[in-house]
Amino acid sequence: MDYYPIFLNLKGKHCTVVGGGDVATRKIGTLIEAGAMVTVISPKISTEISGWVEAASVSHCCIRNYQTSDLENQYLVIAATNSRTVNQQVYRDAERASILVNVVDSPEHCSFILPSIIDRSPLMIAISSGGAAPVLARKLRQKLETLVPFGYRDLALFAGQLRSVVKSKLKMGQRRKFWETFFDGPIANLILSGRGAEARLAFDTELEVVADRQSRESWANSENNDCISGQVGEVYLVGAGPGDPELLTLKALRLMQQADVVLYDNLVSSDILELIRRDAKRISVAKAKGRHSVPQQDINSELVRFASEGKRVCRLKGGDPFIFGRGGEELETLVEAGIPFQVVPGISAANGCAAYAGIPLTHRDFADSVTFVTGHRKDHGYFDLPLDALSTNRQTIVFYMGLTSAALIREKLIDSGMSALTPVAVVEQGTRRDQRVLLASLEELPEQIANNDMKSPALIIVGGVVTLAESFHWFGESLMNTLPEKEVALPMPMATAANS
Ligand code: SAH
Repeated sequence: MDYYPIFLNLKGKHCTVVGGGDVATRKIGTLIEAGAMVTVISPKISTEISGWVEAASVSHCCIRNYQTSDLENQYLVIAATNSRTVNQQVYRDAERASILVNVVDSPEHCSFILPSIIDRSPLMIAISSGGAAPVLARKLRQKLETLVPFGYRDLALFAGQLRSVVKSKLKMGQRRKFWETFFDGPIANLILSGRGAEARLAFDTELEVVADRQSRESWANSENNDCISGQVGEVYLVGAGPGDPELLTLKALRLMQQADVVLYDNLVSSDILELIRRDAKRISVAKAKGRHSVPQQDINSELVRFASEGKRVCRLKGGDPFIFGRGGEELETLVEAGIPFQVVPGISAANGCAAYAGIPLTHRDFADSVTFVTGHRKDHGYFDLPLDALSTNRQTIVFYMGLTSAALIREKLIDSGMSALTPVAVVEQGTRRDQRVLLASLEELPEQIANNDMKSPALIIVGGVVTLAESFHWFGESLMNTLPEKEVALPMPMATAANS
């Protein structure tokens, strides 16, 4: 070990920063956050430092060059000037006076080095490569940033406030077990969902139960203490986005990795399933159009059953759970059964496919509104399109589940007055590695779908914005077909470049 890691308490301690540029400014900012009494020495200072001086966050500021006597009575000094001579002078003076010293970007002139930090105060994670590879340490920090939820700050504060109460009521072994169960359990989830008051009530009740159990000396040996005192579990209704795992939200990822059971449908990509906690139970409830391998009612009752057993259940859905996802029906069942739940939005197919195909869903030259429509026909082929709403100009229409209804979509839209030459895009496997984007006119939509063997999942986007894909397409294979330049009628003439 080259360095001994410690966290210093700098509250009220005299610390000096020599330098007034960008780097010095960052170091001063962190020292202020840590509560240090900061002195700045530099012939020039940044506007941010001036602001701190005015606000009295910086205690002293000397607008002049550094001199040895500046280190008198100092606890720590950071040299961040662009002069090697000055930096080395600071180092020598500090060493002689036994003051902690850091010279920026010069590990050999440091008695301490500054780690990359993830700050969820009071929780802090510090990473260091011992000066060998600061960029690597920063990369690792970026990775960890996404894994440590911002809510852990609240969790740490909550636990900090109650630590002494728990200490007074539970013996050491039980205490550790209590906290381990707490951080993985439903009370922590309440805190992370912003329901602090409820969490406090649940915590107090739980502590009483465990303390009581301890006094009967049974809890420590009990085999089934994974679920806090037999509480019901919770269901997370999570949107997994359209396929690219990088489009998952941080919250979706956290809950997927926390769940004991994951029920997923066939729109969730295999790359995303890879991110589920290894030891979680995975259940596919794959639904294909017209065929429900697990009927919705059974899914609903499975959610209730697992949660009633005290499990944390993640219901993972493609896209967004509230957009053609039957998320509402699942919640109704949970509400009836009194099961707590959280809903995590996902990037819906329309957003994902449009972005990855280079089709802005609205654009001041083409569309002022966008409508999401299901192309799924009701029983017996009946298809109820809101034609009045769809036949207006300057809008984009996105059809989910529209592949097999393409002929009917064409017929209905043309009947309602839309030009047969309106541009249309079909995005297959949007945002995934094998994404394909087909451009066509409304008139030729069904034939082009058949000729190119377009398969589900695919999204149909109708409207003038589709022409923009020819310039903005950036992801995956090149576009299939181009729109014939002259023949395609746009809902509105394209405005001049100066207007756009
Ligand atoms: N809740 C989902 C939609 C479920 S309906 C969401 O918000 O995206 C299923 C339909 O969504 C599919 O038939 C298809 O039209 C569309 N879809 C979902 N993922 C898709 C993808 N990666 N590429 C293209 N279309 C997709």
